[in-house]
Formats: sequence, structure tokens, C-alpha cells
Amino acid sequence: MVKAVPTVQAVYQDMQAFFKPLWPGEDKPLVLGEGKDNGPALMLIGEAPGETEVIKRRPFVGKAGKNLDEFLSLARLNREDIFVSNVVKIRPTDIGPTGRTRNRAPNKEELSLFIPWLMKEIQAVKPRCLVTLGNVPLKALTEHKNTVGDCHGQWLASKAGVPLFALYHPASIIYRRSLATVYEQDVLTLAEALQNMTGG
Ligand code: URA
Repeated sequence: MVKAVPTVQAVYQDMQAFFKPLWPGEDKPLVLGEGKDNGPALMLIGEAPGETEVIKRRPFVGKAGKNLDEFLSLARLNREDIFVSNVVKIRPTDIGPTGRTRNRAPNKEELSLFIPWLMKEIQAVKPRCLVTLGNVPLKALTEHKNTVGDCHGQWLASKAGVPLFALYHPASIIYRRSLATVYEQDVLTLAEALQNMTGG
């Protein structure tokens, strides 16, 4: 008998149960994905939630939400028509020199804990394609040697069996302004491919 694919809500329930006992005494809430969770044209995958995302328990709000809005308008998409998520569902932090809590890149332990759940999430959502933002989701879902500098604007085979389009993380544009036009061009290339996919 063919085993039914669980819904993303069922995957999230199992995921919450798995992570609940993992970091006792630490406040590490999960920020889950959201959007069209059954066969969207694309699933957008970021690195990990930041401070605002944890407060609101929603991915890509706050500063990253502004980046997402720009992406959506360039790609001629609506937020409710796509699924938006992150590789790591907690906010990875450390303490900066001034004593403030700041974001850091996910570490190996966090990646190895969350990547199997990302795979289940993708199988449940069944997107027609994946769009990765930056190196973390790109490396999680393809051959590890791929870097966004080499692969941006290109289609790659993903470990999830769904075609993957690599983009720079919009936050990296803040540090390297020259990437802004590259990023925009890549999003337009993606928009054209989506138009052809949907026959629109
Ligand atoms: N917020 C997210 O939800 N993901 C990112 O990758 C960055 C900010």
C-alpha cells in the first residue's frame, strides 16, 4: 500500500514534540513556515528567523519582510500563493561585544537537527520548485560544495527531488550594494521561468 504523505500541520506537530525537550531551560520557540501549503508554485527557504520573527512567530516579517515584499513584487507573486519557511526554525544567537544578543549563522548541530525536518516539510508542502536565499538553504538542499556566488540565478537539482533556484540572501545586499542588480536580475529570470511553468 502507498503511504500517504502527511500534511505540513502533522509534520509540524511531530516537530514540536521532537524539539520540546531538546533545550531545557532555554527559550527557543520554533518559527514555522506559512503560506499556501499544498502544491504552491514555489517554496521560499531562508536561513533562520531573526528577532522580529520570534516575537511574531512568523517567518520573514520585520526587516526581512520588506525584502520579501520586494522579491514578491519583482517576481509578480503574492505572499499567499507561495510557502515561506527557513532551514532552521529557532533564532540562532550569541552575545556581542556590547553585551547585546545578536543573530549568528546556524551551527552544525542546529543544521543536522533541522535539515531532516525541512525534507519532511518539503515533501508535505509539495511545491513545484524551491527558491533558496543564501548559502545555508542552498548547501542544505544540494551538494555541499555549491556556493551562492557560483550558483545564483541557476536551476539545480535538489536533494528533495524538486528543482531549486538559487538566490543571494537579500540581507547580503545590505553589505554589498553591487549585488542589488545581480539579485534583481536573478529574480526576473525566476519570474520568467515561473510564467513559462504556469503558461501565464
Ligand atoms: N528572517 C527569516 O525568517 N529568514 C531569514 O533568512 C532572515 C530573516
